[in-house]
Amino acid sequence: MLTKHSFSDNDLCNLLREERSVPWMENRAVYPGFFDPITNGHVDIILRGLRIFDKIIIAVLKNPKKRALFSTKDRVMIIQQIFAQEPRIEVKAFDGLLVDFARKNKANIVMRGLRAVSDFEYEFQMALMNRKLNPEIETLYMMPSVNYSFLSSRLVKEVFMLGGCVKDLVPKIVEKKLKEKLTKRRSFFPINA
Ligand code: ADP
Repeated sequence: MLTKHSFSDNDLCNLLREERSVPWMENRAVYPGFFDPITNGHVDIILRGLRIFDKIIIAVLKNPKKRALFSTKDRVMIIQQIFAQEPRIEVKAFDGLLVDFARKNKANIVMRGLRAVSDFEYEFQMALMNRKLNPEIETLYMMPSVNYSFLSSRLVKEVFMLGGCVKDLVPKIVEKKLKEKLTKRRSFFPINA
């Protein structure tokens, strides 16, 4: 385990020997987020993750403090439908500490997306806090295609509510669900997840 701040050649040899002695495990990553709703930016990160990991567990945050447009159940169901054909993806709702969820699901990587410098500070704090809580879990960042680097769930909801087209920004099922919400409510009144 990499806990030292610097290491000599000898330390490096020992660290590598230690790493080699760890038995091979399925490479599982957790991708946590609110996904209210999932956008093509999230999908881009998930597809990149599938090139690296054997399995990705998408962890949908139940956060009673954050107001959501879609319920936790709906957010999970939408993502399950999008990836119904991909057996290497599992979607679960979660609350509590992410490191506990990762450990319970036998994942040693947390996967996150970095859109712009503005994401960096929060992500940096979270990654270091998670490392303090469980040094065995690494956080890995990926950058989406430039087409999605400006995209957020909040922006999608705002644009859609104002009559803008979100066709290229979200999966088809999300566009359908947004339309259903708008027809039912006439406007978006966020609900608690
Ligand atoms: P948000 O509500 O900000 O859209 P989430 O909580 O759903 O984000 O985000 C989960 C993870 O996905 C975070 O690591 C976030 O930075 C990342 N993410 C969100 N949107 C994008 C995007 N357009 N491109 C890449 N990563 C993204």
